[in-house]
Amino acid sequence: MHLLALALAVQVWLSPVPGALIEQGFDPPAKAWGAGHRGVDFEAEPQTEVFAIGTGVVTFVGEIAGKPVIVINHPDFGLRSTYEPVIAIVELGQEVLAGSPIGETAERGGHCGGHCLHLGLKGPGKTDYRNPLALLDQENVVLKRPAA
Ligand SMILES: [Zn+2]
Repeated sequence: MHLLALALAVQVWLSPVPGALIEQGFDPPAKAWGAGHRGVDFEAEPQTEVFAIGTGVVTFVGEIAGKPVIVINHPDFGLRSTYEPVIAIVELGQEVLAGSPIGETAERGGHCGGHCLHLGLKGPGKTDYRNPLALLDQENVVLKRPAA
């Protein structure tokens, strides 16, 4: 089956860094602007290839607060996925499939010293932060085990 036809037939959600361990989980703030962790961190050394978690359209490529960020809109679900810090290989308006490469992690700008990818999931409102792990195919997501 053609890849696009397959993607349209069944929406799949994939890890942005396949096989990577999760450094820090989702810890949403009690209030919209409070402290918390609005996403999930995947362990990733600088220049690790990053993939779209779902099929959608690139709606932002640029810097937010000094961090290179990519935003992909998933209109069928009212969701947006955000990836940072990522040097983009995609352009604004580009359509991507789940699992399409979108860039690679930057050495600077992340909140774990350049050693992780932060994945956020929002929608439908601007401050409706969701846990990306609730969507991802659990078989491809490896939770970091506590140190032995
Ligand atoms: Zn994070």
